Amino acid sequence: MKHRRSIELASPGRHAVEIEKETLATLPQWFVLHAHCRTCHHEASIDRWEIARRHGHDLSLANLAKRLKCQGCGNRSDNLLLLQKLPRD
Ligand SMILES: [Zn+2]
Repeated sequence: MKHRRSIELASPGRHAVEIEKETLATLPQWFVLHAHCRTCHHEASIDRWEIARRHGHDLSLANLAKRLKCQGCGNRSDNLLLLQKLPRD
């Protein structure tokens, strides 16, 4: 069986996605994004459609991670981009 994508789904809770290659356009719709601040541990969900409208659908997840700014403390560096897979019907 041939895999169409290079995403590895290790287990239901953890995912390895090639964030250098995946963009907002190629990331499957059942993934939701969260940001986690390493400084104050603030966590926020990211509206990927809003980001895509503002920065373009071709923004890679790696570049998105670099643009994250913590809403709690304003930290811009070292923020984590987390992916969560929603259950599909
Ligand atoms: Zn913070």
